[in-house]
Amino acid sequence: MQKLEQLYEGKAKKVFKTDDASYYIVEYKDDATAGNGAKKGTIAGKGPINNRVTNHLMQLLERQGVPTHFVKELSDRETVVKRVEIVPLEVIVRNIAAGSLAKRLGVEEGTRMARTVLEYCYKDDALGDPMVNDTHILAMGWATEAELREIAALSFRINDILGATLKDAGLELVDFKLEFGRTPEGQIILADEISPDTCRFWDTKTGEKLDKDRFRRDLGGVEAAYAEVRRRLLGPEGPSQA
Ligand code: UDP
Repeated sequence: MQKLEQLYEGKAKKVFKTDDASYYIVEYKDDATAGNGAKKGTIAGKGPINNRVTNHLMQLLERQGVPTHFVKELSDRETVVKRVEIVPLEVIVRNIAAGSLAKRLGVEEGTRMARTVLEYCYKDDALGDPMVNDTHILAMGWATEAELREIAALSFRINDILGATLKDAGLELVDFKLEFGRTPEGQIILADEISPDTCRFWDTKTGEKLDKDRFRRDLGGVEAAYAEVRRRLLGPEGPSQA
């Protein structure tokens, strides 16, 4: 498959067209931003780790019946994915109160909640990704009622599958962000990434943060935390294919 012109450059990834209209190639960068671009930096080795971790988790989800955009890992930073139209929502799944929810609702970070919380934000950097509810989404036509039902059901299933996998790796899945895409046939599938950039992972025993909060909050040990997540999920550095 041939990599053609760049379609888009985001904060952490670039997306390229290919010679097959059904597929794109994503390329993971080491660049990191936080606070909607207010804080910028580089996390050495992040691109290859997020590429590997995302592909590993997407393959695991596929095996359990969750449709994803994953097709094939091409290199340490590049992956072939299915072409989809991204639903302009960030779907946030929360098991333990942290980050913006803890702040907004005035609860201590780490508070266990009686059930899983699902939140939607409208993907728009200029607006700062405002939180919206299902009636906004339907009113604006960002997704249909059936699509939204599917997105919610898939998000809860993904939470169950990932939560169990991470628990086995000694990691608590505190919260995470998902994005979904619409295939040309109209199927809703999981897109984007699942990595320490987009999830909060806390060590089950010590509570240590092993995710992007180390960068956001200047906690140090950022690279080591990403490498630790990779090691726990995939084992010591080895062949690049799962
Ligand atoms: N998240 C993300 N991208 C965003 C916003 C949030 O991947 O643009 C992830 C974040 O890593 C965390 C979860 O979604 O795992 C919830 O984030 P929160 O709303 O607490 O925002 P934050 O505290 O990161 O600003």
